[in-house]
Amino acid sequence: PPLTNLQTRDIESLLHPYTPIHQLKSTGTVVMGRGKGVYVYDTQGRGYIEGMSGLWCAGLGFGDEEMIEAAIEQMRTLPYYHIFGAKSSEPAIELAEKLKEIAPVPISKVFFTSSGSEANDTQVKLAWYMNNAMGRPNKKKIISRIKAYHGVTVMAASLTGLPSNHNGWDLPVDRVLHTDCPHHYRFGIEGESEAEFTARMAKSLRDLIEREGPDTIAAMIAEPVMGAGGVVIPPKGYYEAIQAVLAEHDIMLIADEVITGFGRTGNWWGSQTLNMRPKTISAAKQLTSAYAPLGAVMVPEDVYQAYVDHSATLGTFAHGFTYGGHPLSCALGVKAIEIYQRRDIIGHVRRLMPVFERRMKKIGEHPLVGEARYCGLVGAAELVADKASKRSFDPRNGVGPKASKLIEENGAILRALGDTIAICPPMIISEAELNELFDRFETGLDQAEAWVSTGALR
Ligand code: PLP
Repeated sequence: PPLTNLQTRDIESLLHPYTPIHQLKSTGTVVMGRGKGVYVYDTQGRGYIEGMSGLWCAGLGFGDEEMIEAAIEQMRTLPYYHIFGAKSSEPAIELAEKLKEIAPVPISKVFFTSSGSEANDTQVKLAWYMNNAMGRPNKKKIISRIKAYHGVTVMAASLTGLPSNHNGWDLPVDRVLHTDCPHHYRFGIEGESEAEFTARMAKSLRDLIEREGPDTIAAMIAEPVMGAGGVVIPPKGYYEAIQAVLAEHDIMLIADEVITGFGRTGNWWGSQTLNMRPKTISAAKQLTSAYAPLGAVMVPEDVYQAYVDHSATLGTFAHGFTYGGHPLSCALGVKAIEIYQRRDIIGHVRRLMPVFERRMKKIGEHPLVGEARYCGLVGAAELVADKASKRSFDPRNGVGPKASKLIEENGAILRALGDTIAICPPMIISEAELNELFDRFETGLDQAEAWVSTGALR
């Protein structure tokens, strides 16, 4: 069909991330017009179940009246103020207090950013400052993992462990190291148990630290469950093993809870589900359920105290964003957390988890699916050319994107991460809606299988 007026204007004026831009000229974009509950509707009137919560963020779905009211009220009262120097605003104070209350580890202070990338960037600066304050100026390298996703600013993209975020940008920058990805299905050696694999991951981390020198390494950053890298759920005992190695070498652990925070895995924090004990935490996305942009860095007392004690010699905290602590975003953060608590959203997630598990297991039986993995209400299906050997498709075939397009034509939005199809529905989804989402997912996979079996692939 010919492109609509909006689609044509879109392609003429917008630079879209993560898309071969030339292709959009023929396919057009899906211009979304409105949303309600777990549904979004494009400007041509087609409805979709938003099975990805947008970008893993709209946990409360769309058009929540309480969120809308909170936004209007804050807009009327104080639409903008900052927290630089000796200025502040009530929503920022209240949200910081709430985050301290629900944090999985002792947190003393909260620093607000506008995004998850900025939160992770800030984490690195904090770790560097902290080590300068402690008289350890060489302890500056940050360990991340292959397939990690931590954002796209120069430092966050460097921490990211996906070649697509490095290629063409001369990244990663110095001081960033990548250790192994804890994905047993893909990186386990033939016959290797999960326990043996975990021990190998820990040994590989230890080897890296010893090779580089422990006194050169400040921190390791990790998503409890890797998101954009393919929804990688580490084996049981992984974080215990990793943390033991880090503790030996006085390397702090930063939890990137940008996707996993606020109930996604069935607990407030992914750290709780995965037995992580981080020193500091990055949050964003479901912090406001995506009703406004906001990120947060949560730090314990000693990180804060480093600034207090050393600002005379190292300088004051000269780091802050114009929109960090934006009153609209913070008011929406306060309201989102209040709703998570009052409506028992995490209890709801837990009640849905057996349904999600049952349907993911069924997805795992599909002929195209090598592994179906899940944790709480986030999961993924890794599509393979051969189930027995786990052989992947030639990426040039674009099987994942084709499958997600077919799923979309069936009225469900899921996300292709290469040939892995991710699913991360709004946490408020009902059981019936969740089943409907999976029905559409399965139909799209059947159609993808039919397409694959025409034999036209490389
Ligand atoms: N960290 C994780 C785990 C993420 O999934 C993302 C975004 O998807 C980010 C950081 C970056 O967040 P933002 O896109 O808000 O900069």
